Amino acid sequence: MVKGYELPKNFLQEIDDLIGLINKNLSGEMDGATLKSYRVPFGIYEQRTPDTFMVRIRCTGGIITPSQFLEIAKISQKFGEGKIHITTRQEVQLHDIKLKDIPFILKELYGFGLSTRGGGGNTIRNVVVSVNSGIDKNEVFDIVPYAVSLVTKFLEENDSFGLPRKLKFAFVNSTDDLESAILADLGFVAKIKDNKKGFKVFISGGMGAKYATGKLLFDFIDDTELYNVAKTVKNIFNQFGDRKNRHKSRLRFLFDKLGEKEFFSVFDKEYQKIKIEQNYILPITPIENKQQKFALIKEENNTKEYSLWQSSFVFQQKQQDLYSILLPIKLGDIKASDVIKLSDFLDNFGENTIRFTKEQNIQIRNIHKEYLANFYNFLTKTFEAYSIPLSDTLVSCTGADTCKLGIGLSKNLSSEILKLINQELSHIPYNKKPKINISGCPNCCGKHWVGDLGFYGFVAKKGENIYLAYNIVCGFTIKCDNLIFSTKIGEIGAKKLPLLLNEFFNDYLKVFANYESFYEYFNMTGKELLIKLLNEKYKTIPFFEEDKTFYCDWGSDEIFSLIGKGSGECSAGLFDFIEKDIKIIEKIKLDIENESNEEKINSYLHQIIFTALRMILLTKGIETNDKQVVFNAFTKNFINTGIIDKSYQDLIYNAEKLVNLNNNKQKTFALVTDIITHYKSIS
Ligand code: SF4
Repeated sequence: MVKGYELPKNFLQEIDDLIGLINKNLSGEMDGATLKSYRVPFGIYEQRTPDTFMVRIRCTGGIITPSQFLEIAKISQKFGEGKIHITTRQEVQLHDIKLKDIPFILKELYGFGLSTRGGGGNTIRNVVVSVNSGIDKNEVFDIVPYAVSLVTKFLEENDSFGLPRKLKFAFVNSTDDLESAILADLGFVAKIKDNKKGFKVFISGGMGAKYATGKLLFDFIDDTELYNVAKTVKNIFNQFGDRKNRHKSRLRFLFDKLGEKEFFSVFDKEYQKIKIEQNYILPITPIENKQQKFALIKEENNTKEYSLWQSSFVFQQKQQDLYSILLPIKLGDIKASDVIKLSDFLDNFGENTIRFTKEQNIQIRNIHKEYLANFYNFLTKTFEAYSIPLSDTLVSCTGADTCKLGIGLSKNLSSEILKLINQELSHIPYNKKPKINISGCPNCCGKHWVGDLGFYGFVAKKGENIYLAYNIVCGFTIKCDNLIFSTKIGEIGAKKLPLLLNEFFNDYLKVFANYESFYEYFNMTGKELLIKLLNEKYKTIPFFEEDKTFYCDWGSDEIFSLIGKGSGECSAGLFDFIEKDIKIIEKIKLDIENESNEEKINSYLHQIIFTALRMILLTKGIETNDKQVVFNAFTKNFINTGIIDKSYQDLIYNAEKLVNLNNNKQKTFALVTDIITHYKSIS
């Protein structure tokens, strides 16, 4: 059976621990802020509507089996909004889940070999992989087994989940998909050298309000070095990453802070250490791509629509007579009822049939040519998205509808664009379709920097009134292993954007046959036309009194405002947790001062030391409640290194051995003060 990862042995215990905390919160014994520190690294985020949650499920490289997909659909029907959202990192999300139902959901997912851990927070996030890996005629080799094995290993390691900030990895099977690797914190590009499989490696790339291209870390590593390299990156990020300023804590900021020479020197020192101490070689199990079952009776279809569908959405695999099918999912949202039908249907074709794409669509693979008509007949009865123009190439982030950072309702805008666009565009061959990427704010979750046309929301003003506008960026391409990023060509009020695009694409429809790609058309004539249309017809902003609807976002009849658009949950975790621990320390200190019972004072002194040690260990990426681990790690990281004065060694030893501390009250307070002072000095 194809799997995105194996769950670690202790995983059930970790789920039980989280469930215990959720239950504590539900019974009022734990506040929401504390729970947030634990649930976010498990991919559980609160939505804009209070007590509704999003649950993100890991799917390495978009891998899921029909039976797992079916299970997720049933969960969504029973506990959520009855639909599933596919993300640009090839994973899936359930929305509108109540906190009380999450324990059951986590257990159900576990039963089907699925995990939400690392779905959010300061963790190693879902690993993206070229969607055609394993079936692509032009690939160097199939990189999926490597991604799966690395994820399995990292899921076992607790230090994957207490990082300074999120860490994103990508694997690509050829340079055709290079941007995913160059824009990742750590990107692996398949390469063969001297008949040996291996990878070219890029580090410290990323997309956000500002993008950064990855730097070449290795021109080639043997595939047996994969874990050593990835583990080294995790270790140096854990050791040197900035845990205080979340706006500057991604790996690329560490690279900038240390400078290239120092960064590579730090990397090399740790890499040599890992090679000596661990030198772990990931076990690699190849994944077969073949049709496993032949249970269906072959159907026919001789219509023109069937031929058009084949030319737009069906692709020959490198395996003889097998095909992949692109199933467009409008804005990544698929009804649970459709998933159930699809999973049932795919049961005829075996387990290795589904991948989620980075464009939020579904790729079906390993379908024998004899059954393509069966598939088409099934799709036309079940799905509508394949006939919606651009629904396969338009990517939108979730936007202000559910995202707490969002400015614009980007999904509503995208729906309007899809509604308005000329129907004929759905039949343009896939490689000639314009790729459109939309983000509801500058944060780039909709990947606006890497589309043919990218849009990201910002707040604009006319007179005293604010309205939602979008920056227009374009020109992204890859040339000779180099990424050329989009640049801004203008801005437009949100309400005018669909009209502009419709007029612009009507021109493209007339001439697309003359060009190799949309990119070629855009460079030769399209860009000029778009700028001309923008300036001549779509630039004027009406006054508020003239057209109030212009001052509302798409899908909303309220005047656009920034009220309720607060900070997001991505920062949940470390900083909240430390601040929380400091408050607990202050409270215990007061309790000690006000207590006369000797036994209780001793107990409080032990509590305050443990809390302070546990708190400061978070700055080293060590997140644990295990007393033995806390005392050992504190001694190793703070006493032995001289960060905290060695004169406290005896006190720490006595606390660990549960010796009565009543004669050490002042020294205990001094230790705790020194720990907090150290934390503040690095903040
Ligand atoms: S780009 Fe902005 S609005 Fe869209 S999901 Fe990301 S943070 Fe939210």
